[in-house]
Amino acid sequence: MRILIIDDEPGMHDSYRRSFAPAAGHAGALDAMAVELFGDNDDGDADAAPAMAFTLTHAMQGIEGVTAVEASIARGEKYAVAFIDVRMPPGIDGKETAKRIRALDPDINLVIVTGYSDFSPLEISRAAGPADKIFYIAKPFEVAEVTQTATALAHRWQVDLELAAAREALAAQIVTLKEQSHELAANESRAIHIANHDPLTEAPNRLAFRRALTDRARSDATFAVAMVDLDRFKLVNDTLGHLAGDELIRIICTHLQDSVPAGGMVARLGGDEFGIIFDSPGAEAAAMECERILRGCCGTFKVLGHSVQGGASIGVIASAPTELRDPTDLMRRADLALNDAKREGRGIVRVFDESMDENIKLRRRIEGGLSRSIEKGELKLVYQPIVAREGLEVVGFEALLRWNTDDHGPISPAVFIPIAEESNLIHELGDWVLAESLAVLGEWPGQYVSVNFSPRQFRRHNFVGRIMESVQRAGIEPNRVQIEITETAIFDDADRAAETLYKLRQMGFRIALDDFGTGYSSLYNIRKFALDCLKIDRSFIDGMGRERESAAIVQSIVHLGRSLGLGVIAEGVETEAQVQALRVAGCSHLQGYFFSRPVDLEIATEIAHRRFMAEPETDAVEDDAEPLLGNGTHG
Ligand code: C2E
Ligand code: CA
Ligand code: CA
Repeated sequence: MRILIIDDEPGMHDSYRRSFAPAAGHAGALDAMAVELFGDNDDGDADAAPAMAFTLTHAMQGIEGVTAVEASIARGEKYAVAFIDVRMPPGIDGKETAKRIRALDPDINLVIVTGYSDFSPLEISRAAGPADKIFYIAKPFEVAEVTQTATALAHRWQVDLELAAAREALAAQIVTLKEQSHELAANESRAIHIANHDPLTEAPNRLAFRRALTDRARSDATFAVAMVDLDRFKLVNDTLGHLAGDELIRIICTHLQDSVPAGGMVARLGGDEFGIIFDSPGAEAAAMECERILRGCCGTFKVLGHSVQGGASIGVIASAPTELRDPTDLMRRADLALNDAKREGRGIVRVFDESMDENIKLRRRIEGGLSRSIEKGELKLVYQPIVAREGLEVVGFEALLRWNTDDHGPISPAVFIPIAEESNLIHELGDWVLAESLAVLGEWPGQYVSVNFSPRQFRRHNFVGRIMESVQRAGIEPNRVQIEITETAIFDDADRAAETLYKLRQMGFRIALDDFGTGYSSLYNIRKFALDCLKIDRSFIDGMGRERESAAIVQSIVHLGRSLGLGVIAEGVETEAQVQALRVAGCSHLQGYFFSRPVDLEIATEIAHRRFMAEPETDAVEDDAEPLLGNGTHG
């Protein structure tokens, strides 16, 4: 422990020296006193407290003392205590010395050694404060007085120093802690953001949408929930690549956000599906808003340098606070409306109504019945002749499925095929239809059977292998089987479809593109598919006599077919007039009620052996009993 003595009398220095001289037992007693003074009882044994060793520095004048302090600070060996005489002529006095020392070292303890009529303690502590670091000893002093004061102050100085160091360390730790907690908070808010947002569009995700919907449902707001689904998005993905798909999603999302009414929310629910919530006074207003939003999504967008035709379908439900509002149910109903919009041709807005729920129930019932239809023997096939334009030779028959239920009577395939198509049930039905169709070929002299395959069947794993196996098992030449598929089946995954069709055609199967003209395919695009013929959709044949447009479409399909070397079959031919018009247009084959309805196997076999259709006398069509759940297919 370092002590500084500043006094102009050499005799005084001797007294100090004597005071601090190490005397056995003496120092121990002093230490014990210090310990008692500060309550420091490390081990409760005062005798064991180490004696404090002092190093003295002697200065004869104030300035000399100040210089010593300066030097000590520079060396990093600071004094714990300075004893300062008050009167030290001719140099600066004790008060000034104390003031200067204090300016250099805020920690040092100053002991002012005063005579009787010197400065008051107040004056000195004002000059060299703080008061708790200034002490006084009156001259002449006792040896014990000096050592005791020195020991006590040195001890305190030491403790203060350690305390300051501890405080500094603590402050540093607090700073680190604060930084860490900032970082944690940032991490947390990032995590919350990620959990609630879609990374592609930065829009709220399904989770956030549900939460917002729950909040709204609890409030007393009248609002609307809309589900938006992009039309033909998969086509963009498949033809232009996923980057283009992503870009289109972002563009549409921005459009939705820009067009949603103030206070509304747009969320990306997944894939090409968005959810919107906005305040709206009722269903009609909500539908109008949605129409407006929809217009923003339609039109041509520039996507990575390509022009892409945008389009969407929207299902919407309005909800008043008077109703029971369950978020899950609201979303389900908006989804039902969306499905309806998509089924009805896309690009439209549908408002939910209760019948959609009823529809679902009916569909579930049909699905249940259908799954047992084969074992219950409720299915059968009927056959409709396809005739050549000239001479009306019967070249083949289209096999069409019939389901006569015990519970509901006959149900149209236009109703149950789409339902079967929603599950794997379609495969079971399809396998049955194919096996049945192949079995009849033995009874016909040479005609082919034309079998319908739905998109899901066509995309089934190993479609080609399965079909080949069935044909081989039945001992049939593939050229007696025509595969009817629709545009939807091939354009959803064009490359794969092209390959599948190529393989089938290589094996000798005939391929017909069904319902041609109703899909989205550009006429130009079909060139890359291996086809034998196009079947012009019935709606154009039907419209031919009435609308110029239909006649023009028929004409252009025939041209296209011819230029590609394909046959063209007109479906749904009902009148003599249509027959004449189609002959003129150049259709190679005709099919429809005018020649024959789809008939049971026996009659079909008779027709097959007769080989030619006689042109009926009249073009009036007798109608069979309509299927109960028909939807105009027999219109
Ligand atoms: P599609 O392939 O377009 O079949 C032609 C539909 O038009 C048949 O209805 C047929 O009965 C009807 N049709 C034929 N000629 C005329 C006519 O002159 N006028 C009118 N108004 N209609 C005519 P159907 O049998 O009700 O079949 C409806 C749809 O169900 C079929 O349309 C086809 O997409 C699907 N379908 C039928 N059977 C099967 C099948 O075995 N498998 C698959 N996947 N789908 C099938
Ligand atoms: Ca067909
Ligand atoms: Ca058709």
